[in-house]
Amino acid sequence: MARVFGEIDGYPEGSEFVDRRSLHECGVHRPLQHGISGSAAEGADSIVVSGGYEDDEDFGDVIIYTGAGGNDPATSRQIADQELSNQNLALAVSATEGLPVRLVRGSRGDSRYSPTTGYRYDGLYRVEDFWEDLGSSAHKIVRYRLVKLTPDVVVETTGGSDPTTGAAPRITSQTQRIIRNTAVTQRVKELYGHRCQVCREVLQTPAGPYAEGAHIRPLGRPHDGPDVEANVLCLCPTDHVRLDYGGIVIRDDLVIVDVVSGNELGTLLVAEGHPPPTQFLTYHRGMRTFS
Ligand SMILES: [Zn+2]
Repeated sequence: MARVFGEIDGYPEGSEFVDRRSLHECGVHRPLQHGISGSAAEGADSIVVSGGYEDDEDFGDVIIYTGAGGNDPATSRQIADQELSNQNLALAVSATEGLPVRLVRGSRGDSRYSPTTGYRYDGLYRVEDFWEDLGSSAHKIVRYRLVKLTPDVVVETTGGSDPTTGAAPRITSQTQRIIRNTAVTQRVKELYGHRCQVCREVLQTPAGPYAEGAHIRPLGRPHDGPDVEANVLCLCPTDHVRLDYGGIVIRDDLVIVDVVSGNELGTLLVAEGHPPPTQFLTYHRGMRTFS
């Protein structure tokens, strides 16, 4: 069954479950034992916080989460080092790909935020960061900072933007730079193997290559650019900022021009199967050429 990122239909935030099997059956959290649901290739779609790790810290809307492995289930103590692989790598991929993660709390977690019995789905979180740390039992652990997504951000991540008609998802400009991931940006990044179409760099991280899906004609009012492949470029963060703030424009012949110096920077890399962005480049030049 395909992994679902975002909310599961019929199970809104606050839904309660008697046990892990019922979480499994409705698809809110599929693994029966693992705390992290996901794969290194796809990212993680859900996690359970239930007091199984001594280094977890729950602050409600912010959670410092411990990766999987190396702990003694009887005492929750770390007895071995953790690695950035398997489930732990999956949760790191959710950070670099901007994927929303369903958060489930169990009754054994921090009493301030946990249900008194069973499990509760507590909404979508984004993985803001991941790092290696020394846990309180002096073993290496992988830690993650998870931050709750507000509803207006969630609209874009799970959002019903149609890849063919491009009905624009309703989002605010504020959220556009926070969560850039949609099914469409994901496909475009895969089309280029995360290679920047402007500078041709592939930025490597321990969680795999990193790139951003950049909308040429911006989403949201008043521009209402569509979330379609023709309107999305695969860019490194630097070139994403240059495109967004008009440091570069791209001509119809796909030559990239440095707006400030007027220099030509080369030609946009275009992969087979990526529809031409011409009409969106025209709109972008209209917005960004201050002359
Ligand atoms: Zn670049």
